[in-house]
Amino acid sequence: MTTAVADPLIARNPSTGAELARVAGTPPERVSQCVDRAAIAQRCWADRPWSGRREGLRRWHRELGRRAEELAEAVCAEIGKPAGEAMAAEVIPSLDALRWTIRSAARVLRDRTESPRWQRWLLMPPARIERRPLGVVGVIGAWNYPILLNAPVIAHAIAAGNAVVWKPSELSSRCGALLQETIDAAGLPEGLVSIVQGGSEVGSALVHANVAKLIFTGGLHNGRRVLEALGARGTPAVVELSGFDAAVVLPDAPDDRTMAALRWSAFLGAGQACMSVKRVFLVDRPAEAWAEAFARQAEAIRIGDPKRPDVDLGPLISDRARDDVHDRVRAAVAAGARLLAGGEPVDGPGSFYRPTVLLADRDQEGPERALEGIFGPVVIVREVADDRSAAEAVNASRFGLSASVWGRDRRRARALADRLDVGVVGVNEATTFFALASAPAGGVKASGFGRVHGAEGLVEMTAPRTVVSRSIKAPRPQVFPYSNRLGRVLRVYRRLVHR
Ligand code: NAD
Repeated sequence: MTTAVADPLIARNPSTGAELARVAGTPPERVSQCVDRAAIAQRCWADRPWSGRREGLRRWHRELGRRAEELAEAVCAEIGKPAGEAMAAEVIPSLDALRWTIRSAARVLRDRTESPRWQRWLLMPPARIERRPLGVVGVIGAWNYPILLNAPVIAHAIAAGNAVVWKPSELSSRCGALLQETIDAAGLPEGLVSIVQGGSEVGSALVHANVAKLIFTGGLHNGRRVLEALGARGTPAVVELSGFDAAVVLPDAPDDRTMAALRWSAFLGAGQACMSVKRVFLVDRPAEAWAEAFARQAEAIRIGDPKRPDVDLGPLISDRARDDVHDRVRAAVAAGARLLAGGEPVDGPGSFYRPTVLLADRDQEGPERALEGIFGPVVIVREVADDRSAAEAVNASRFGLSASVWGRDRRRARALADRLDVGVVGVNEATTFFALASAPAGGVKASGFGRVHGAEGLVEMTAPRTVVSRSIKAPRPQVFPYSNRLGRVLRVYRRLVHR
């Protein structure tokens, strides 16, 4: 008998292109075996009382905390995030999410009772609504937040009594392997959470395996392909896809504070955060001076080796990603945008790209179309006439992940925020909301559906089961033969309740 062996994945440092590690790949044909093994582990796990599951999560939380520095260093090396950012935007929010899960899962997933009260004609006792585990949950992650996109989802799945087979991106295989080590060290049942490593062919094998639900994070194109395959199998999913986030700056927004916040939001992770600001709309004020000042701030960002403490912006994940960003910036310029800062790769090794600020004329939408869904350190600024036009401009994108409104008058900002078709919206806040352990995150429109994080994310890992238990002797109106008596009861009920 021959044992299938997959080529190892080569983890690279995007700052230098140097090899970091070789990670064993999973042969695609092995994926369904992992799912079958997980299904066996899941049955016993689901029978454990919450206190038993909570202990497993606590041990994982402790292990993740113990190896926090190592994980942050791994994210810095493999993804190219500045080390402090890797800790603040990846590891700490992941620890927070586990802590929230440990403290909140019992409350969120508690059975509830729904009494029929006013539906008295049914003569039914209260129903009990239980939250049942689904079975084996498949998780496919993107590379840009290799810990934060996966750890909370895995924690929610197992807290709810599921098993997990998960696949990190092939571009973050080393971070994925380290995260799995922390899970293995938690002493969970054998096979309850397993990692499979590889690219789209391994992801596709997971999609076609016997998973009860799939949580997918990635780009629109791949997300749609995955949804087609899941649809054919009737498998439900949560899909967290691309965004094209906008910030609306109202006339009373103070320049210094607003620019400082937007500069961070736009260029954090080299603009490769799903909720990075990509479009800035200035309401009823000349965009040119604002955009020029913003461009000078973008130019002041310190680019370089993300291991160094005096660096704010590391490389893009790969040369391919950098070339894609550059092509789109050129397309936006060809469509009429003015380049105010950046717009070119940094000379030398590594996939670095300069923070880029573009300016479009008031009614010029072509450059935005050229940039839609871009994943890099690029912002386009445009003036709009009023709040209504701002909402229209934000909503013109097919994506609807997150957005923000900036200004002193919070009532006006809030009213505008209410008109934006997005899954997450901030007033004087952007991007950071993804770190909120207790609030759901996710998009609308082409940005996907379903939620991760918070109670909604936990509930995604369950199926509701309604249980009604009555005495065999209790009277029941619904029996043959139909009688006039039931008709009389319903007439009275109709008059009383549905007048
Ligand atoms: P990607 O679509 O290239 O890959 C995502 C994952 O899907 C990877 O693990 C990949 O191997 C896998 N995959 C690719 N094709 C597949 C297939 N046919 N079947 C099964 N799996 C397949 O995305 P990426 O480059 O890793 O991530 C960047 C994208 O993710 C950006 O568009 C970003 O906006 C998005 N993203 C969204 C969120 C969110 O919360 N909405 C969060 C992070 C990233």
